[in-house]
Amino acid sequence: MLKLMEFLRVPNDNPALTLAQFKAFSRQMPLLYFILLTNMASLAWTHRMVAPAWLVIYLPIVLGLFCTTRTIGWIANRNAPVTPEQAYRKLRSTNRLAAPIAVFCVLWSCSLLPYGNSYQNAHVAFFMAITVIGVIFCLMHLRSAALIVTVLVNIPFFLIMAWSGQPTFVATGINVVLVTIAMVAILLTHYRDFKQLTESRLTLMAQQTELTRQHREMEALSNENLRLANMDSLTLLANRRNFFDVLTRTFAAAEEKAARLCVGILDLDGFKPVNDMYGHSAGDRVLVEIGRRLTALSSDHVSVYRLGGDEFALILTGTHDDGELSALGERICEAAAETIDIGTCTVQVTTSVGFAVYPDIGSSAQDLYERADYALYTAKRHHRGGVVIFNAAQAATLSRHRELEEVLLAADLEREMALVYQPIIDVASGRCIGFEALARWTSPVLGRVSPAEFIPVAEHMGRIALITRLLLASALREAATWPADVYLSFNLSPHDIATPENVMRIMKVVEESGFNPRRINFEITETAITRDFVQAAHSVEFLRNMGCGISLDDFGTGYSSLNHVHKLPLSKIKIDGSFITEINSRPASYKIVKSVLALCEDMGLDAIVEGVETEAELEVLKELGVSVVQGFHFSRPLGAAEARDIVGPALEEGQASAG
Ligand code: C2E
Ligand code: CA
Ligand code: CA
Repeated sequence: MLKLMEFLRVPNDNPALTLAQFKAFSRQMPLLYFILLTNMASLAWTHRMVAPAWLVIYLPIVLGLFCTTRTIGWIANRNAPVTPEQAYRKLRSTNRLAAPIAVFCVLWSCSLLPYGNSYQNAHVAFFMAITVIGVIFCLMHLRSAALIVTVLVNIPFFLIMAWSGQPTFVATGINVVLVTIAMVAILLTHYRDFKQLTESRLTLMAQQTELTRQHREMEALSNENLRLANMDSLTLLANRRNFFDVLTRTFAAAEEKAARLCVGILDLDGFKPVNDMYGHSAGDRVLVEIGRRLTALSSDHVSVYRLGGDEFALILTGTHDDGELSALGERICEAAAETIDIGTCTVQVTTSVGFAVYPDIGSSAQDLYERADYALYTAKRHHRGGVVIFNAAQAATLSRHRELEEVLLAADLEREMALVYQPIIDVASGRCIGFEALARWTSPVLGRVSPAEFIPVAEHMGRIALITRLLLASALREAATWPADVYLSFNLSPHDIATPENVMRIMKVVEESGFNPRRINFEITETAITRDFVQAAHSVEFLRNMGCGISLDDFGTGYSSLNHVHKLPLSKIKIDGSFITEINSRPASYKIVKSVLALCEDMGLDAIVEGVETEAELEVLKELGVSVVQGFHFSRPLGAAEARDIVGPALEEGQASAG
């Protein structure tokens, strides 16, 4: 019974099914009313002469009007959007209407039976049969209504047919009932299929929605990956990869529109010491803070990138003339130089900036970048903490630099490199107590090239370590021919002490030569120390432990703090020649030399003054108590044989200096 009730009710547990049912059904409703109307009209017409007017005219007209209004309603609303709730309500009202209409049709058609002859009675039977079949068909998607109509029409129909006793009518009755049962069976199957189809379509839609959601998620994830791949995770600035992507794109655009495009590269000075002394988290804080300060200076036309380590970059679009660039560079330097709170204390770093501007220079994005980098390199060498815009002079230097690189790379170092030796003089005795070995390169292509020029190039291209070992071996062979109280002073590059491996290799050269390490003095510059203080300190200590002396070369020209000097196990300080040239004319120079000498005295370090060119300079230095000097006043750098000559027996006899 419950099951039957369920069959006769409109299901309301699946809103999507209700909607699908409603959609399919609403297309069929006008057809249903059409069938009803034509069938009624036809039956009324065949009985028009025999039955009373209220039966064949008025009632059909009333029902006709009703059917027409309903049809118009269905047609008008066929495309109107409905909610599942509205659809359910409409289906339910149709369901409720099914019974009265069915009953009405049965009663109406049966009430015509007494008036007609056999033909007309047959038409009534036909009316009932055709109507019920047509209606079942149209109500296919509303199972409950179809079943109500079937039951309400079929039972009376069959009874009336059987009642007549007419074999034709009885057969028709049985026939129609059987056909309707078959129709109902078809309807139930169809309804089940329809339900399944709707459900599987729903599942499919749900799967599609899920797929779309997954796709969106994946898209979001890959966007996120892309964002991360282009971002520096520490400073949250765009990273190196992004820099080159953007540069390539903006360069192409600038080339097309002949617009100005500028690249700025900056690199912190004094970052490594912070990292070494206060730890990596302090270093990280510095980088984050610098990133923040740079971002504060960025704009729509100025984007900021972290290229890696303590290196940052800018891409500037729009018109920035050199004045604006310098001003921006100065602002960056000022911002960077402000103290940074690292938690336990405050630290300070500085930065140098190099700019290169297209179309002034640069034939490709890479080229523009390289020139900005070269401008930075120039800034670091000559205007530390300042701004350099790549210009014609640098273009010339850069092309010379590249030429040197090319020739040096192909050079036969053993044949082309040689050493000269500049005497180091003890002021009191006038005796040569050692020689500083100075490199000379005679290239078959370029002629004689000054070490001031080729050493930085060799450093830049990573060939210096090889050159150092080669020259050191040769210097040690030469020094072995000198008297035992004459020492060798040999210049090392920052690269030579930048890694433990390089230092080990140097030591190996010393060991293999068999030369007494106590007769070797290595000269290192302040740059070597400021670049990586901790490693420099290790290297210096290592060399000192081997017995070698270490002097700090060019003292006063670089940026090493007294703190550095204090912490390194140095043996000598070499006061730069530039102070000596001005010692008589510039009181400041005099004072500097004097205080450095006092510092050396204090710290128990020997002091050497280099670049002594005149007797007058020597006099002042003597007054200041300088005991060891070097310079053209005593001797220019000499060839190996000449050097050997001056430390020969003649020197021991008191012949002080050579000319
Ligand atoms: P430095 O180590 O400061 O060497 C002293 C430079 O001053 C030498 O120039 C020397 O010839 C020059 N000099 C010596 N006395 C005087 C003087 O009284 N007045 C003037 N004006 N100059 C004087 P040089 O040989 O051209 O070397 C230049 C620089 O190249 C050196 O400066 C040093 O930094 C570098 N260098 C030279 N040889 C080597 C080497 O074998 N290895 C490395 N790493 N660097 C080297
Ligand atoms: Ca030197
Ligand atoms: Ca020097």
